[in-house]
Amino acid sequence: MEPPIHRYAIALGSNRRHGRHGSPARVIAAALAALAAAGVEVAAISPTIHTAALGPAGRGFANAAAIVRTPLDPPALLALLKRTERAFGRRRGRRWGPRVLDLDIILWSGGRWPPGQRRARPGALAVPHAAFAGRGFVVRPLAAVAPAWRVAGGHTVAQIKARLDRRKRMDARARPAL
Ligand code: ADP
Ligand code: MG
Repeated sequence: MEPPIHRYAIALGSNRRHGRHGSPARVIAAALAALAAAGVEVAAISPTIHTAALGPAGRGFANAAAIVRTPLDPPALLALLKRTERAFGRRRGRRWGPRVLDLDIILWSGGRWPPGQRRARPGALAVPHAAFAGRGFVVRPLAAVAPAWRVAGGHTVAQIKARLDRRKRMDARARPAL
């Protein structure tokens, strides 16, 4: 019997140039090519968005989301994502510097991971990703490729994005620019 094919939403981020691939946006494109070469079917890719750096030290981030299809279960896909992050490396001599590549599992077609439990152990793999719904740089690209995806029986991605957009407008009104 063929193994079941799972559907995943993954988030990609980069804020460092790569010696060979170039800019953060190119790092993201190369990471998707690497996943495809590893046998993961890349079904949809969002536009890449650019976010200004939060602190004075960092540079801006590039972020995107993709829908992928694979028979790998969440721990096996996470292992592949971590191998891919390592293959893209970090800047030499900057152990705690920003990463060239961050790959996260946001959603999967199986609902929650770990199955049948409300919460994962701290630090352990949790799907849906524990913090994604508050992160515009994850939700906005995700809404471009999977607006109707219902997150673990709750809101759709489009609804989560609308809530973030509302909150952003309210913040802008509460703290008008000087
Ligand atoms: P972040 O992605 O928040 O910047 P890291 O990439 O350093 O942080 O991830 C920290 C750890 O989070 C990873 O080692 C991984 O085991 C764990 N983790 C838990 N849930 C997830 C998930 N859904 N996707 C990716 N990593 C996850
Ligand atoms: Mg990560």
